[in-house]
Amino acid sequence: MRTHNLGYPRIGNNRELKKACEQYWAGKLPVEELLQTGKIIRKQNWELQKNSGIDLIPCNDFSYYDQVLDMTLTAGVIPDRYFKLIEKLNPHELDVYFAMARGYQKNGLDITALEMTKWFDTNYHYLVPEFKKNQSFKFSSNKIIREHAEALESGLNTKPVLIGPVSYLLLGKEKEPGFDRLDLIDKLLPVYSDIFKQLETQKAEWIQLDEPFLVMDLSGKAKEAFAYAYREIRKKFPKLNIILATYFEGLKDNLALATALPVNVLHIDLVRCPDQLHPVLLALPEHMGLSLGVVDGRNVWKNDFMQTLKIIEKAITKIGHDRIFLAPSCSLLHSPCSLKYETRLNPEIKQWLAFAEEKLDEVVTLKQLAQSPEKPSVQEKLKENQQAQASRRSSRLIHHDKVKQRVNSITDEDARRKSPFEIRKRKQQQMLNLPAFPTTTIGSFPQTSEVRSWRARFKNGEIKEDQYKNLLKEEIKKAIRWQEEIGLDVLVHGEFERNDMVEYFGEQLEGFAFTQNGWVQSYGSRCVKPPIIYGDVWRPKPMTVEWSLYAQSLTTKPVKGMLTGPVTILQWSFVRNDQPRKQTCLQIALAIRDEVVDLEKAGIRIIQIDEPAIREGLPLRKSDWKEYLDWAVKAFRVASAGVQDETQIHTHMCYSEFNDIIEHIADMDADVITIECSRSQMELLDAFAHFNYPNDIGPGVYDIHSPRVPAKTEILQLLSKAKTVIPARQLWVNPDCGLKTRQWPETEKALSEMVEAAREMRKSL
Ligand code: GLN
Ligand code: ZN
Repeated sequence: MRTHNLGYPRIGNNRELKKACEQYWAGKLPVEELLQTGKIIRKQNWELQKNSGIDLIPCNDFSYYDQVLDMTLTAGVIPDRYFKLIEKLNPHELDVYFAMARGYQKNGLDITALEMTKWFDTNYHYLVPEFKKNQSFKFSSNKIIREHAEALESGLNTKPVLIGPVSYLLLGKEKEPGFDRLDLIDKLLPVYSDIFKQLETQKAEWIQLDEPFLVMDLSGKAKEAFAYAYREIRKKFPKLNIILATYFEGLKDNLALATALPVNVLHIDLVRCPDQLHPVLLALPEHMGLSLGVVDGRNVWKNDFMQTLKIIEKAITKIGHDRIFLAPSCSLLHSPCSLKYETRLNPEIKQWLAFAEEKLDEVVTLKQLAQSPEKPSVQEKLKENQQAQASRRSSRLIHHDKVKQRVNSITDEDARRKSPFEIRKRKQQQMLNLPAFPTTTIGSFPQTSEVRSWRARFKNGEIKEDQYKNLLKEEIKKAIRWQEEIGLDVLVHGEFERNDMVEYFGEQLEGFAFTQNGWVQSYGSRCVKPPIIYGDVWRPKPMTVEWSLYAQSLTTKPVKGMLTGPVTILQWSFVRNDQPRKQTCLQIALAIRDEVVDLEKAGIRIIQIDEPAIREGLPLRKSDWKEYLDWAVKAFRVASAGVQDETQIHTHMCYSEFNDIIEHIADMDADVITIECSRSQMELLDAFAHFNYPNDIGPGVYDIHSPRVPAKTEILQLLSKAKTVIPARQLWVNPDCGLKTRQWPETEKALSEMVEAAREMRKSL
């Protein structure tokens, strides 16, 4: 039995890589120093893994920005527009790389970045390769070779990791019509050959090829590509030891395909899909090893050793010790680095957790437990682990019977508004008396450095709570006055009191814990620190009522109450694994429901529940969508349906392609939905039009991601376009998303243009 790791976080224990990259981009750090930072992180990671006792340690899992972009550069898939930069400035390889990641706007050049999208169902984003019909491939960057050699220098023969050829093609996009990117496989394979040749020269013993697409729904053509690519590789490299890594789901109907590939070891994710062990063991050919992904690579919970040992023993019985590898379920890229920096976490909670560093120990300990359980030191570790599990199962911090009971007694009625939309709309209109094309914003206003400095000073005790609140209230007052002046119809308080739309609520709800240093890479140098939902979630007291009420007291126009929805809170946190996600989501839904009802009681007539993450929660396999959508939609409805017909519920979503889930979006039954639309020139609305979306819609009329101020005429054009597919009486007028990343001057101008455009539209009625 051997242990291995699929990948280690590369941001550095204290986000050293983030800091170095950002300084480099700002021109404040020479390239040599950035390279040096990378080298130090790699060395530290290798040493740490070696010391923890992992047998096969990965290399090339390090990346300055993204592992898919690394492969893109390795294979020379550089879109034409970057050659302007290459020819004009003959830049360092790293500068071409960063230009592809971030765009390039200097030295008289203006080159856009590659598109970025989510890595399967994680919160990590990768850069999408662009393929042309006559795409050529050339082994262009020898990063993987260099890193393998670098580890050799420190005495380690590491296992190079790279994205397998079929997944690499599938991750990309055809940038012109008339071809299928899978047809490029023949041209791509020589790059892999070149890499393997050099790695063989360097005496690499193992190579890990990641093919996560093997857990997805695959077309016949993709299946053929897998069979073909691996046959070709094997022909050329009969002796290469290949570990084929799959993760994030089970192989399911691709099991026969995967086990027929001529590789040495197959890695499977037994955290996401423990049920696949049995069929995989039955299907595994005799020459193939099996890597058991048993330690959760993308959540923060301590492994339950007893549970896992059962899995390992089952595998041993069937295929023996020698063919088994133990590993985390996927790359540890998705875990925070180390628990050792958490000095403020409640120790009771801390003992239930394992971050990347601790997960390595778990993998090694599991091997010891499987191989020499009689050793006292090993027994000691097992005992400790069992104690931690027992403490978690029974902890008073976690379990609140009332919360559990409340979830169990949710009725259909709790998840349904009192009357259908048409009736509600009439009552709400009587109450609110809004004009046609009502104008509003999505919630947040600019978080100026001043506002942020108040929060920082409040948090470190420099100013008292009263003072802090007064400062925020002044800011709210200004925002309300100003919204009245330009003539918006539905106002917001501006969300100045919030750092982050999930953290803000997590901090006020029971069942959430926060780390000091639990950073995880989201994309490039951007890292996030997701809250940890460890226990039953409930709301000890109102969270937003004071702010909304204050804002409403300043004006006769309606001010929207502003909440984050249960699915989004769930999706952007580390979620407990001791009960189904659905259960946790419904607990959050009830807490939000209480807040909604309290806002209504306080006289707030419009309440927005943001659900930007509802689409990204979709399972990887289409056959699992319905089950997810059923409970996700239910959670939203539970959160929103506690109010009277007269109270108007809004929801907001951004970056969403709704075409394939539009009926479920409609099923959420929000009175008004605001969506991102301006960048796609209202294309998104087609889905709503085709489906005959019944409720009101606010298609975003300008892109808030750029400081550019739209002209009234542009907004008018977009609105007219929207009017051709959605009846005018259903349309609202609003920006694409919240304005917290913008500055006031451009915000003022843009919203004034927007209000003017709405006025003009009204005239046309
Ligand atoms: N209400 C939030 C805001 O305006 C919505 C943010 C989001 O959609 N991500 O900032
Ligand atoms: Zn948004």
